[in-house]
Amino acid sequence: MHFIALLYDRTPGISSAEASITLRGNDHKTWIASELGEIQLPVNALAYASCPTFRDIYLEAVKGETRPPTWDRYKGRVIDEIYKNIHKTCEEYASSCRARNCDLYTHLISQQDGLIDQAKRKYKAAFDSTETKPEGTEVEEFDRALHKIVKFEAEITSSILDFEIAHLESANPGKIFSDFFDFNTDFALTAKHQGFTIPSIPDFIFRNSIIGDIKSGEWHDFFIYTLVAYALAYEEHTGRPMNCGVILHVELPTSRRVPAHYHTTIEQLSDYHRKRFLTIRDRKLQIIKDGIDPGKPDDATNCGGCAFHRTCWGATG
Ligand code: SF4
Repeated sequence: MHFIALLYDRTPGISSAEASITLRGNDHKTWIASELGEIQLPVNALAYASCPTFRDIYLEAVKGETRPPTWDRYKGRVIDEIYKNIHKTCEEYASSCRARNCDLYTHLISQQDGLIDQAKRKYKAAFDSTETKPEGTEVEEFDRALHKIVKFEAEITSSILDFEIAHLESANPGKIFSDFFDFNTDFALTAKHQGFTIPSIPDFIFRNSIIGDIKSGEWHDFFIYTLVAYALAYEEHTGRPMNCGVILHVELPTSRRVPAHYHTTIEQLSDYHRKRFLTIRDRKLQIIKDGIDPGKPDDATNCGGCAFHRTCWGATG
C-alpha cells in the first residue's frame, strides 16, 4: 500500500486534478430516485459490473443466493488484511521511536510471521469453507507471496524514513511517517442517498485526496466504478470533493522478487466514469425493486469466472 505514496510523487499534476467534475456525491443529481426507496447494498455489489445482464445482483439480492467461498476470494481478503496490518505496525513503530534508534526495516521483518498468521487466522473460517481447495504446494506458495509483500513494504517504507532521517537535522520518525504515508484505513462513510450500506469503508484514503481499493486476481477495467462509488460516498459524507482514486492491484508472480502492480495508476474520477457508474447502480437497484429476472446473455462467453456460472448454465454450461 505504501507503494501508492511513491507513485503519488511520480504522477505529475495529480495534486491539482481536474475541478470540472460536476457529478458530486453531495449533489442530489447523483442520489437514488425516491421510487427506489430504501434499498441499500455494499459498494462492491453495486459497482461490480462483470455480468452482462446484471443477473448476478438478481440472484444475490432477490433470490438470496450466496457466492460460494473460493480460494481466490480467501486470498484477496488475506492480502487486504496484510496491507492494513503492515500500515498499522509501521505507524505504531515510527511514532514510538527516536531518530537515533529507528530501524523500521528490521522491526517489520521481525514481525512478518506474526502479521501473516494474524491475517490468515482472521479468515480461517473462509479458508475452511472454501469449496475448491488449493492443490499441491499452492498454500506454501501463497505464504511465500505474503512474505514478499511484507518485505517489499518494509524496503520502500524504511528507505523513505531513513532518507528523511538522514536529510533532516532534527527528524521525528512519527511525523515523517504520518506526513509521507498519510493513509486512513478506517474512514467509515455514511452515504444513504447513494444506496450504499452504512457504513461504507474504503480500503484506504490517501492524504484526504485519493480513494483507494486493494484488488488481487484478474484485472478488470470496471474496478474504477468501486473508486467512483467510494468517491461519491466520501463527497456525500464530508461535503468535500474527491477527484482521484487508485486501485492497488496486487499480482504475485513467481518470476519477481517483489509484488507486481502493473495496472496501478492514479486515475481522475471524471464525470464520464461517474455517469457510467450511476447508470449501473440505478439499473441494479431497479432490478431489485422489480424483482424480475433480467435473464442471461445469449451465450456464456462473458460468464467465465462468475460465481453463479453453475446456477445460470448448469454443470456443463
Ligand atoms: S453466469 Fe453469466 S449471466 Fe449468470 S450471473 Fe454470472 S455473468 Fe451473469
